[in-house]
Amino acid sequence: MAETTYRICTLPGDGIGPEIMEQAERLLEAVSKAFGVTFDCERQLIGGAAIDATRAAGEKVTALPPATLSAAQAADAVLLAAVGGPRWDDPTPGAVRPEQGLLAIRKNLGLYLNLRPVRIYDALRDASPLRPERLDGVDLLIVRELTGGLYFGRHERQVDVEGAGRDGTKGQTAIDTLEYAEFEIERVLRWAYEAAARRSKVVTSVDKANVLETSRLWREVNHRLNAEFEDVEGEDMLVDNCAMQLVANPAQFDVLVTENTFGDILSDEASMLTGSLGMLASASLGDGAALYEPSHGSAPDIAGKGVANPIAQILSVELMLRYSFQMDEAADAVAGAVEDVLAAGWRTADLADGTTDASHLLGTAAMGDKILEAFALRAGSREA
Ligand code: NAD
Repeated sequence: MAETTYRICTLPGDGIGPEIMEQAERLLEAVSKAFGVTFDCERQLIGGAAIDATRAAGEKVTALPPATLSAAQAADAVLLAAVGGPRWDDPTPGAVRPEQGLLAIRKNLGLYLNLRPVRIYDALRDASPLRPERLDGVDLLIVRELTGGLYFGRHERQVDVEGAGRDGTKGQTAIDTLEYAEFEIERVLRWAYEAAARRSKVVTSVDKANVLETSRLWREVNHRLNAEFEDVEGEDMLVDNCAMQLVANPAQFDVLVTENTFGDILSDEASMLTGSLGMLASASLGDGAALYEPSHGSAPDIAGKGVANPIAQILSVELMLRYSFQMDEAADAVAGAVEDVLAAGWRTADLADGTTDASHLLGTAAMGDKILEAFALRAGSREA
C-alpha cells in the first residue's frame, strides 16, 4: 500500500529562523521513517529574505513572493520560523517590511483561529514567575478567534465634536466597533469542543456577557454547543475573573476559548506561566492549510551563532502532526522526547540558570541531536 504523503511548505524566514528550521526538518525525517508517512517539504522565502531576493532579482519587492503563496496554498500545512530584523527596519514611509509577509500569508490562508498550548515541563518549573506548587497539573490550550471582533471592526476618529473636549468644549472622539457574526463564533467554539473531546473534556468559554452584546451572543452559542457535545463539560467565565484565575489556579483549565481581543491578552498572560519564550509553539487554523510557528521572533541578537533554542520550532511540528495530520501518537512521541531531554538536564543557553551543569549546555544542533535520540527511543518503544 502506498505511504500517505503530506506536502509541507517550510518558511525559515530570517535571523535564527533557518537554524531552528533545520532541526524541525530533521525531526520530520525521523517521524517519516518511524511512522511510515512521507513528508514532501518545499522551502520558500518569506520576510526579509524574500525582500532581499526579490530586490536582487529586479522583481517587485515583496515579503511574500507569489511562489511562496502558491506553495503555501497548495500545501497540507505550513511551517514557519520567524521573520524580521534591524536590517529591514527601513523608516521610509511605504517601505516593504518583513512583517507584511506574515500578515499577508495569514490573511490569504483564511486563518480564523489561533491556538497556543501552555504546558509546564517539570524540569523548567523554576523558570515560571509563579510558585512551583501553583503549576501542578497545568496543561491548557488557549483557542482564540483571529479574524473578527474589535481588531477588524470600524475604526474612526471624529474631530470638533461638541462637548468632547476638556471642560465641555469641542474635542475628538474615537470609535472602535466590536462585531461578531454567529457563524464566526460557532466555528471557533465548535473547534474548541472537538479539541476538548480529545483532551480532558472541559471547555471554558470566556466573555464579558454582563456588559457586551457580542458576549451575550457568544454565550448563547456556547450553550447550544454544550448541549450538542454531551460528553464535554462547558462553562462560561467572565474575562476579568479568568485573568485572575489564570494566575491563581491555572490547573483548573483544559480548553479555554475566547474572542480576538480577550484571547490576545489572555494568551500572553498564560504563556508566562511557562516562563520561557523559547518553548512556546502556536498554530493558526482555517479552512485550508494551517500555519504552525514558534511564538518568539527572529532573535537577531543571536542569529548565526548556533545557540538558539529549537524547541518552540520542534513543538510547532508536534502541533502540525496533531492538528493537520491527526498523528497523535507521533505528536506524543515528540512532546515526550522534549520532556525527556529537559528532564535529563540538557539546556540551551536561554533555559540555563545557576543550577545548570556547564557540561549540559547545548547549541542548536546539539539540542536537535538530543531530541532526535529521545524521539527514536519513544518511537521505538511504541513498536516493541
Ligand atoms: P524575539 O522573540 O526575536 O527575541 C526576544 C529575546 O528572546 C531575544 O533576546 C532573543 O535572543 C531571545 N530569543 C527569542 N527566541 C529565542 C530562541 N528560540 N532561543 C533563544 N533565545 C531566543 O523578539 P524581538 O527581539 O522583539 O524581535 C526581533 C525581531 O523578530 C523583530 O524584527 C520582530 O519584528 C520580529 N518578530 C517576529 C515574530 C514572528 O516572526 N512571528 C514575532 C515577534 C517578533
